[in-house]
Amino acid sequence: MRTLRGLAASAGIAIGPALVYAPDDVGAQLSSQAGAKGPPPVVRAARDAAAEFTRVERALNVAEAQLKGVYEKSLAEVGEETAAIFLAHQEFLSDPALVAEMKRQIEAQHLGAEAAVEVAFEGYAKQLEALDDAYYRERALDLRDVSRRVRRILTGAQDQETLSNLSSPVVIVARDLTPSDTAQMNKAMVLGFCTATGGLTSHTAIIARILGIPAVVGIGDDLLQIQPGTTLIVNGQEGRVLTEPDAAMLQDYARQRDLLVAKQTKDKEAAHKPASTSDGHRVEVVANIADATSAQVALGFGAEGVGLFRTEYLFLNRQSMPSEEEQFRDYRAVADVLGDHPLIIRTLDIGGDKQLPYLKMAPEMNPFLGWRAIRLCLDIPHIFEPQLRAILRAALDRNVQIMFPMIATLEEVRRARQVLERVEQQLAAEGVPFNTRVQIGIMVEIPSAAVMADLIAPEVDFFSIGTNDLIQYTLACDRVNEKVAYLYDPLHPAVLRLIQGVIAAAHGAGRWVGMCGEMAGDCEAIPLLLGMGLDEFSMNAACIPAAKALIGSLSMAQAREIASNALMRRTAEEVREYLRSLGLARC
Ligand code: PEP
Ligand code: MG
Repeated sequence: MRTLRGLAASAGIAIGPALVYAPDDVGAQLSSQAGAKGPPPVVRAARDAAAEFTRVERALNVAEAQLKGVYEKSLAEVGEETAAIFLAHQEFLSDPALVAEMKRQIEAQHLGAEAAVEVAFEGYAKQLEALDDAYYRERALDLRDVSRRVRRILTGAQDQETLSNLSSPVVIVARDLTPSDTAQMNKAMVLGFCTATGGLTSHTAIIARILGIPAVVGIGDDLLQIQPGTTLIVNGQEGRVLTEPDAAMLQDYARQRDLLVAKQTKDKEAAHKPASTSDGHRVEVVANIADATSAQVALGFGAEGVGLFRTEYLFLNRQSMPSEEEQFRDYRAVADVLGDHPLIIRTLDIGGDKQLPYLKMAPEMNPFLGWRAIRLCLDIPHIFEPQLRAILRAALDRNVQIMFPMIATLEEVRRARQVLERVEQQLAAEGVPFNTRVQIGIMVEIPSAAVMADLIAPEVDFFSIGTNDLIQYTLACDRVNEKVAYLYDPLHPAVLRLIQGVIAAAHGAGRWVGMCGEMAGDCEAIPLLLGMGLDEFSMNAACIPAAKALIGSLSMAQAREIASNALMRRTAEEVREYLRSLGLARC
């Protein structure tokens, strides 16, 4: 038996035979056919240039038809936000610059259709990679995915067939899986995923979490030594893969898996009751969403509303800014799904690691400390005002609240409110119906706002603590830099003290306070946050059943004692050890 270690990308335990997925690299085949060493491939046109370009055009048309099908399938299986990637793939196929480059490669460089496609797409992908930006690096991967699809059509290669035709349950082992691979997969037969590359926010990890399939990613090349059919245990809780386990180990893990599945089923059944402690203290357990589909999914998991609607996803993956009308339709669609349930819409939070391709932003030395979120919105009224108009209109007769991200000072709160008032006056003057009683809150995710929460609270209706950012700013550790990940700890006493102060300040001013950072759905932290008095927990939908079950298993007196004991610890490790010693449920 061997143990391989990687990142725990999606919780759960899977046991089954390995399906080693190693699609042929069409480009490598081409290069070797032509006898060339390394890129660029130099397959010479066997036919005349016009005929080769016609082959390219036909392949692009077939790819477009395939991608339409893949989009529809993904929409049904994993929702709009994730399926949107295949709309972006379709756009590449008709990109005039790319098509012109393929033609040029055929006519001027005398390349064959397959090589022209590879060279043109690869050139474009390299340009995007050179921009040294996470968003564009991902687009480069998408370009390669599309290039492979088109070349497979040209050569008649069939490697995705294996994934769509799975007929018995397997654990997929791969270097990495592209969006096209996962979209075409027969997911009913996939027990688990393990990949050699990829991080916790890689496409494979996100899909695995949405589908509830256990996954371990970033294992390294050792994974690729696994032989097809080898029995594997994927431990998505701890980020480990065991190969060829002995009978005792198999039995032990099968038991753990069954217990986990039984707990998830039971929690899910009970998740439709309102969240409350065993002694009747009510809190709200709500969801973080990105569109109407994810709102629907969240209600299915027992969400009592939405604590964070990340509107930036409506702005990403497209070539131009969505109009006020488009935004209105999208916000209203979400509000309609939620009915009377509360919906907190966060205004645009871009910058940092989220860039819009159509909004030219100068490179910054420290993007997370730079021009992002409310700072950018206050500077660009033609982005901020249409969004506020769309939200106010969509909020008519609905339980909608507005939340401003990345507030550092009271002046920013006041300026944002002034813009909102101006927009309300414009709508009233135009006779456009809108909700005049929308509540206004802010995200507390910058230490300055946390420290002066008592001064800000009287000027807003609510707070939502954004721990994803609050932790990085408190401990001065970039949230996407693995080298300083050891500092990034939600249980650090400095973070806990800030959270406690924010809750006390909000309550002192008679305001409610929620949390929409990942910490709110972390079962280790929930008892502590409950005891500190947090009123609302907003999390990924799949965490809701376990979170509600945990809250229901505690009394408020117990939770308060846990919080006060944890707050006396001096290091994150001491806090963690204390919480683990309580032996409470883990998500
Ligand atoms: C946060 O910072 O905790 C948060 C929820 O916002 P985001 O992760 O979008 O920055
Ligand atoms: Mg944030």
